[in-house]
Amino acid sequence: MLELTASALAQKIRDREISAREAAETANHRVEEVEYRVNAFLTPTPYVALERAGRIDERLQNEGIQPWEGVPIAIKDVLSTRGVRTTCGSKILEDFTPIYDASALVNFGEDLVMVGKANMDEFAMGSSTENSAYGPTRNPWDPDRVPGGSSGGSAAAVAAGEGWWALGTDTGGSVRQPAALCGIVGLKPTYGRVSRYGLIAFGSSLDCIGPMTRDVRDAALLLQAIAGHDPLDSTTANAEVPDYLADLEGGVSGLRVGVVKELMDERIDAGVREVVERVVGELEAAGAEVGEASLPHAYYALEAYYIIAPAEISSNLARFDGVRYGLREPADGVHEMYRETREKGFGDEAKRRIMLGTYALSSGYYDAYYAQAQKVRTRMIGDFREALSSYDVLISPTSPSVAFEIGAKTDDPLAMYLQDICAVPASLAGIPAISVPGGLSEGLPVGVQLMSDHFTEPLLLRAARAAEEVADFEFSPRP
Ligand code: GLN
Repeated sequence: MLELTASALAQKIRDREISAREAAETANHRVEEVEYRVNAFLTPTPYVALERAGRIDERLQNEGIQPWEGVPIAIKDVLSTRGVRTTCGSKILEDFTPIYDASALVNFGEDLVMVGKANMDEFAMGSSTENSAYGPTRNPWDPDRVPGGSSGGSAAAVAAGEGWWALGTDTGGSVRQPAALCGIVGLKPTYGRVSRYGLIAFGSSLDCIGPMTRDVRDAALLLQAIAGHDPLDSTTANAEVPDYLADLEGGVSGLRVGVVKELMDERIDAGVREVVERVVGELEAAGAEVGEASLPHAYYALEAYYIIAPAEISSNLARFDGVRYGLREPADGVHEMYRETREKGFGDEAKRRIMLGTYALSSGYYDAYYAQAQKVRTRMIGDFREALSSYDVLISPTSPSVAFEIGAKTDDPLAMYLQDICAVPASLAGIPAISVPGGLSEGLPVGVQLMSDHFTEPLLLRAARAAEEVADFEFSPRP
């Protein structure tokens, strides 16, 4: 059972070859077996999984279930789950239990077989999951290495077979980069395709919830389950949700594929570039029309992102004041209470970004930093518009390197931020992007990133499916 994809398992559940309860038991057992060396979960929820799986089996006898239901899933701990602790990887929310479910989870169905709440960088800020207040997650490929971040717990859970798939969130790469580093598929949908209601906010103009899965078909199925308009999130698109599985096997014959030259330069490790080049070559052999694409402002995307994202988080984190949610440190007077609570509750990266963001937004500096970054963002959108008028899909690496060692970048925030150079352009533009395992370098997985125009996920998934097919990679749970 552990070797099946989520789609295959879902089919077997519907065919009653495997019960949802057996699947949940298998996932729970796997968590017990490998968690001591992976640390993918902040809150395992074995009883939630079993109870809901039982209800799925009951419904299967009666009214039936949706094609994605019954398959155990890991949920990043930034998504609100009714009655289940939701910490965002932060001390400030250590004892916070939401009273409602995030809309994406509601869309999935009421009997979501949740294996646990997955570890993450505090408030999703980071690229290694080392910013979690509850200890790092370890990469199932090598326990001395990071799983990437910020959805590192979700990625590691899938790679280790602790559940068949997961939900992560991606503000500037946090679904795609950990997927790449753990050898799984990670899809950031178009901004506004999936409701952010109940997702604890990081960068509200950037945040996207996305599937993290064993293969591209699973990603399409999971997106199908969570996508759609939501009156509770005014930034969701009021547009029909297409059938994401319909075109999946359409292949790449005649598809125009552009390799982004600015994301294939010497900042990217040679071994990573080689894997991407090999996949591109195979796509060409499969009938794609391959050329070189240019995103000139990609060189400035990281700088713009690291103004805009901190600006937004400095505002969003203001709500954690010891009054309404989570931690409250006793003190004399309200200002002291705020200070003590935020001093004890937030980790270093959260504090760093609150300071950077507040600075960038302050009068006198607003024009020089925040407004300037927004102009770069507009340029980035223009670059994509231009490139996507000649190409259907753009390709680059997902991450400049394979998984690095735990501790290697913790003393150097800039080195950590540089992990995101390939991921942030698509985030700034709000377009969909997916990471697919392309092969190995230094014995570790390399992700190939594909990007396409707003709301063209069916096309993106079709291209990704073709890339997955030509890639030199086979999923199997580790260790
Ligand atoms: N690594 C990036 C950051 O630290 C992206 C995080 C994310 O997408 N949530 O901001």
